[in-house]
Amino acid sequence: MEYSHRYSVYPTQEVAAELEYHIDVHRQAYNYTLYEYVHVDADTIGSAYKHHSRLPGWKDEFPVISEVNSKALQRTVTRFYQNLSNLSDQKANGNKVGKLTWKSPREFQSMTYSQSGFELKNTSGRHATLWLSKIGDIKIRYHRNIPDKADIKEVTVKKETTGDWFVSFGLETDADDLPEKPDVDSLNASNSVGVDLGILNYIHTSDGKTVDWLDLEDEYERLRREQRKLSRKEQGSNNYEKQRKQVAKVKRHIRRKVLDYQHKITTWLVREYDAVFVEDLDVKGMLEQSHNARNKQDAAWRQFITLLEYKADLYGCHVVQVEAAGTTKECASCGGETAKPIWVREHSCPSCGFECDRDANAAMNVSQRGFSELGLGWPEDTPVETALPTDTTSVSAKRVCRGNLDRLSDRV
Ligand SMILES: [Zn+2]
Repeated sequence: MEYSHRYSVYPTQEVAAELEYHIDVHRQAYNYTLYEYVHVDADTIGSAYKHHSRLPGWKDEFPVISEVNSKALQRTVTRFYQNLSNLSDQKANGNKVGKLTWKSPREFQSMTYSQSGFELKNTSGRHATLWLSKIGDIKIRYHRNIPDKADIKEVTVKKETTGDWFVSFGLETDADDLPEKPDVDSLNASNSVGVDLGILNYIHTSDGKTVDWLDLEDEYERLRREQRKLSRKEQGSNNYEKQRKQVAKVKRHIRRKVLDYQHKITTWLVREYDAVFVEDLDVKGMLEQSHNARNKQDAAWRQFITLLEYKADLYGCHVVQVEAAGTTKECASCGGETAKPIWVREHSCPSCGFECDRDANAAMNVSQRGFSELGLGWPEDTPVETALPTDTTSVSAKRVCRGNLDRLSDRV
């Protein structure tokens, strides 16, 4: 099985400059692969494998190419061909796609060492060192162990738009060796998260991130249009049959889009955190979702939780469902209860004065319940105390998906 672990890394200033330089050389190599793919007519073009044989020639022509690790360079050429194949998959799925384009420095922020040229060292306690050939040592915050049984196939180094650096280890174990889940005792407020599955279309995390839900307005508009057309056809007629298929097609399209999106979000959660806490949905459904229109939403969340639990095992992450009653009413700071109607978006506690976004407060409660479910006390450095409660950062869904799935699907 293949999976990956992601860590924060802290390169020194010199090493960071070196990393940036290497990534830029890789970017140029990527662009040059595109250039050759489009303009060069040769037997050595058309697949990653064949294209690799052109690399010695590149080194003669552009000495700068020799400055980076050559296996990593091959990997960059492969990355181009992977993007190409992702693109044609999308086209085959009926999506409108453009062409692969030249990458600007802003769009190309990572490189991958494959098979060799890297070493993970000094893995004791919470710290470790990553050595990269032609670069040097980089400090890692080693918050979860890489299982002994896992082979490290590759290492991706990435600079986020925030300026923070991350590495992601591509790991492989035998099919039945699932990654170990982190020690329950090692869980804390920085590696665990409570998720509020909002009845408005988004999720909210206890560390103050919101992820917007998909915008499906256009799709639903189209569905309504096709359904209206259907209602005007004579039932049982050929045209009716035809139109019925049309409606089914739009519905299928929506379902597929939602599923694809949920895959991205759930993968992000289990890779980013060691423990993810969510509300027990059946209870939540009874409590807050009063009318039929919400049933669909309900089904979507159930699917979301199913995916989350399945990936928890795959990626070695704890997923815990907690009691949902009262997560919105309860004050995350003092535990007091205040009833709020659905339209009140702020939590403002009359007993202790704690103020925060309604859903952020709920997410923090989910998180606290998750910790106690696992038999842990609420950790000292609670987000309630450390985060500015009213200041939530919105993570665009695109960034979540792009930033964290880069190794899997460097899609354009
Ligand atoms: Zn309070």
